[in-house]
Amino acid sequence: MDTEMTSTTKTDLKNLTLLALEKFLQGQGKERFRATQIFKWIYQHDAGSFEEMTNISKELRAELEATACISSLVPEAVEEGSDGTRKYLFSLADGNSVETVLIPIEGRNTLCISSQAGCAMGCEFCLTGTFKLTRNLTTAEIVNQIMAVRRDVRASGEEIRNIVMMGMGEPLHNLDNVIPAIQIMIDGNGLQLSNRRVTVSTCGLVPEMERLGREIPNVNLAVSLNATTDELRDRIMPINRRYPIRELLRACREFPLPGRRKVTFEYVMLGGVNDTLEDAKRLLRLISDIPNKVNLIPFNEHEGCGFRAPTQAAIDAFHKYLIDRHVTVITRDSRGGDISAACGQLKGRLEKPGPA
Ligand code: SAH
Ligand code: SF4
Repeated sequence: MDTEMTSTTKTDLKNLTLLALEKFLQGQGKERFRATQIFKWIYQHDAGSFEEMTNISKELRAELEATACISSLVPEAVEEGSDGTRKYLFSLADGNSVETVLIPIEGRNTLCISSQAGCAMGCEFCLTGTFKLTRNLTTAEIVNQIMAVRRDVRASGEEIRNIVMMGMGEPLHNLDNVIPAIQIMIDGNGLQLSNRRVTVSTCGLVPEMERLGREIPNVNLAVSLNATTDELRDRIMPINRRYPIRELLRACREFPLPGRRKVTFEYVMLGGVNDTLEDAKRLLRLISDIPNKVNLIPFNEHEGCGFRAPTQAAIDAFHKYLIDRHVTVITRDSRGGDISAACGQLKGRLEKPGPA
C-alpha cells in the first residue's frame, strides 16, 4: 500500500499505523505526539472529520484537511439469519464489494472480516475462490469493516470481542495491507483489541506465515488443512503444489505462539472425499507434535460445486475419534446458512464467471 503523500491525492489516515501517522506528521513539520491524539480521535471516538478534533489547533486541522482524509464504510445491506448471524455488504469506492459477518456466540461477538475482493488461491470447494482475485483490500477497507459493524453493535450496548480473518480472500496474500490493519486493531491507542483475540486464517502460504510470525508474533494462527495427503490436497487446494503438507506443518511448528496457545487447524469435511476415520487418524498423526485444536467445518454446499456435505454420522464419528484422543475439537454449526453467510459462501456482489 502506498502511503506516501502525493500532490494530487489526500492520504487516507486509516491506511496508517500509529508509527506511519507519526512519520506523516513529521514529514509536514508537526510534533509526533499529535499522532496519538489524532489516532485516538479516529479509532476511539470514531471521528469522521478533523473538525471534531477539538484538542488540536485550528491551524493544524486546516492543514490536515488539505492533505489528508478519514474514510469510512457504510453497509449497503444487512441481512440477519435466524441464528442471529448478521451479514453486512459493503460497497467500496471503485464499485467492488465485500462482506463481513457478525457471529454472536454466547454474547461474545466475533466478527469475520474480508481481506480481498475475490481470492486467487482457487480452492476447489470455495465459492470466493471461483471468482478469482479482483483486488486486495486496503488497510483502511479492512479496519473500516470492523468500525462500521462496531457502530451497530455499540448501539445495542455491546462490543466486538474477537476478529477472525476468515471472510473473503487469503489474508496472507495481502500482507502489506493486513499487517498494518492488525497493528491498528491491537494498538492501545487504536481499536484496543487484545492480540489474542485476532486470528488470521490461511490456506498455507509458507513464506508469508514466517513473515507474519516475525512482524506480529502474538497473533492467533488458523490453517486450513482440509486434507491429510498431498495427493488430495494438491487436487482441492492448488497452493499445496507449491507448499506441500510437510512444509506447511513445519511452518506451523515454527510459528511463534506465546504461552499455551495453539494453532487452529480448520478441516472442511467434504462428503465422501475426506471424511472417513482413516482421514481422522492421519489428521491426528500429522498435527500431534504441534500444540493444536481442530475446527471441523461441514462443507456448505453451493450451486455449481460438485462437492457434497458430509453426513451427520460421518461428522459425529470424525469428531468423536479426535475427542477420544484428547484433541480439542469444535464442529462448526452451519451458522448463517439461511443467509449464505457461512464459511466459504461469501462473494460480495461478484458476478459468476461466464461460461468459458
Ligand atoms: N483464505 C483463508 C481464509 C478464508 S476461507 C483460508 O483459506 O483459510 C475460511 C475458511 O472457510 C477456510 O477454512 C476454508 O477452508 C473454509 N471454506 C471455504 N469454502 C467452504 C465451504 N463451501 N464450506 C465450508 N467451509 C469452507
Ligand atoms: Fe481463497 Fe481461502 Fe477460499 Fe481457498 S478457501 S479460495 S484460500 S478464500
